[in-house]
Amino acid sequence: MARSYVHEARRRVGPKRARIRPIVERLAEEHADARIALRFENPLELLVAVMLSAQTTDVNVNRVTARLFAKYRRPEDYLAVPQEELERDIFATGFFRQKAKALRGTMRMLLDDYGGEVPTDFDALLALPGVARKTANVVSAERGVAQGIVVDTHVRRLSQRLGLTRREDPVKIERDLARLVPREDWARFPHLLIWHGRRVCIARRPLCEMCVVNELCPASRVDAR
Ligand code: SF4
Repeated sequence: MARSYVHEARRRVGPKRARIRPIVERLAEEHADARIALRFENPLELLVAVMLSAQTTDVNVNRVTARLFAKYRRPEDYLAVPQEELERDIFATGFFRQKAKALRGTMRMLLDDYGGEVPTDFDALLALPGVARKTANVVSAERGVAQGIVVDTHVRRLSQRLGLTRREDPVKIERDLARLVPREDWARFPHLLIWHGRRVCIARRPLCEMCVVNELCPASRVDAR
């Protein structure tokens, strides 16, 4: 019964290849202000902010970096203080020991291998200590050289609800999305889903009746017949 309902919903909205463009266009119109919520002014601050954002909110990171970035301006600055001092300075973002260690390792490598600059090459970013695929994707996208599609909890939930993937694993979800979403939209697509997920397609209580893509969504609770 449940299976036939899901099948019927998928049939009603049509194939994902035909839906992806209108989904992107409508969400872009609805969330014209969708952008990264982390504050930064240069590639180093971007990298640090994204590294600190693991397991915490962007608002929390912004609170911490407002002071952090005034004190630590160059990679050398992160190495010029004892690790405990850096830990105290980033304490409020949680997992401060691992994050301080990763930041110092990354700064060391930036100085040793990249003249103190943040590399643009995706694999070089991935090789930095504590930089996982999601971090490398966010940094690349914000620098205008998106290499993949950022998958966080909102992107996962909305991609599944919209019938764009059936996967659970973020790497497989990213692969499904990369096959579907036009490359020129790789950077903005996650922001659109994240903002739609915060404002409308809320985890426990999606506001389908207010949703601009409800007739393109197989999980819509609005009766479209
Ligand atoms: S129709 Fe409902 S479930 Fe589908 S994207 Fe919109 S809010 Fe989410």
